[in-house]
This record gives sequence, structure tokens and C-alpha cells, in this order.
Amino acid sequence: MVKINSKKGLAVELSKLEVFSSPNVSLEQYPTDSEIAAEVLWFAYHKGDIKEKVIADLGAGTGILGIGCMILKASKVYFVEKDKSLIPILKKNIKGTDSDTEHNIFNIDISEFDQRADVVVENPPFGIKNRHADKNFLKKAFLTAKVIYSFHKLESVDFIRAFSKDNDFSVTDFFKFEFPLKASMKFHKKKVKKIPVGCFRLEFKTFHCSGNSGNF
Ligand code: SAH
Repeated sequence: MVKINSKKGLAVELSKLEVFSSPNVSLEQYPTDSEIAAEVLWFAYHKGDIKEKVIADLGAGTGILGIGCMILKASKVYFVEKDKSLIPILKKNIKGTDSDTEHNIFNIDISEFDQRADVVVENPPFGIKNRHADKNFLKKAFLTAKVIYSFHKLESVDFIRAFSKDNDFSVTDFFKFEFPLKASMKFHKKKVKKIPVGCFRLEFKTFHCSGNSGNF
């Protein structure tokens, strides 16, 4: 079993995972960069959101986010991915990690997923090819867990805040990245195209009654 004691060590481990060999454009299959995944997961670990928690990785792809949670000692990880062709790669990546964290793979559309978890991690389609795909992932995440780490295009920030608020979630933490989209898609001309992306930590609102003031 791999022992990880630094963010860098986690990034190195995650960089060894196999990624999409022929990405499906309509499903917006972009793998999360290993350094970026490690940055977010290391933060989440120290926030108490991973160790001994049940995690759901929605749109798991080749598994980098959920596998990172397995390495960081989640109690259980659900991988939800609708593209059947990715499941063998996902299984191979999980096996290679040699973690004893319990896991289940659901080869289904996220709309059919009905388990509850402590935390959702997701790098969903940004809704470029399939409008509202990002909104549907958020909706499912709100129904699944009280803490969510979700990647979105930075330009969606106002929508994320408003949509979270409508669902009684709030943004507690925010990370900004230049997301390297490697030229894996035929329509990309430059070798590496970078787009500004935010990762949002969303938490179901907990209302605290503050003393005698009556304020919530
Ligand atoms: N989480 C992975 C993959 C991100 S790409 C990573 O961070 O590297 C988004 C993934 O969501 C793709 O694998 C795509 O096949 C999957 N996906 C897209 N729409 C989906 C849906 N409706 N239900 C389940 N999976 C979906």
C-alpha cells in the first residue's frame, strides 16, 4: 500500500494513473491534472473531509479524484461513470493503487445514482458540449452529500454561488487554477490550451444561533 506524507507525494502517485486514450468529446472527457487534484485533495484531507469519510466521485472518468481519496484513507469511495469503455481503465487504476479502502463502481448516468455520501468530489463536464451538464452534476451533488468539491469554469462563479444558495449550500472555500487541457481533442489546435477554472467547496448551510442576539 502506498504511504503518502506530502502533497507532492500525492501528486506523483496520481500522475502514474492511466488517462483517457480516446476521449469522448460529447461527454467532455478531460482528466484533472495530477498537481491540481493533489492540491484540492490535500486541502480537503486537512479540512477533515476525506479520512474515514464516504466519498462519491461523480463523473469519475479514469478515477483520479476518487483514487486520491482512497489513498488518503476514505472509508469508502463510490465511482459513478456512465462511459462503459472507461471502466477497465478505472479498475486497473484502482487496483494499481493497492489501497484497502472499500469501493464500488457504478457504470450509470449520475441521474440514476441514489446513494448518500459524506462528501462529493467531481470535475464534471463544463457544459460546453452539453448545456446544463454542470448544473445537473451540481443538482445531484446537492442530493448526495453535505460537502461538495466541484470544478467549474471560472466564468460560472456567479451561477455557482446563486445556484448553491437556492439549494441551501454556500461556498466556503475557493481555488483558482489554470486548467491545462491537453490537445487530446482533435479540434484543439494548440498543444496545451489553458482555461481558468475554479474548484468550489460547498457546504450545506448550518445555522448557528448566536447568544441572545436572535441573529442566525
Ligand atoms: N473525474 C475525472 C473525469 C472528468 S471528465 C477526472 O477528474 O479526471 C468528466 C467525466 O464525466 C467523463 O468521464 C464523462 O464520461 C463523465 N460523464 C459525463 N456525463 C456524465 C453523466 N451524465 N453521468 C455519468 N458520468 C458522466
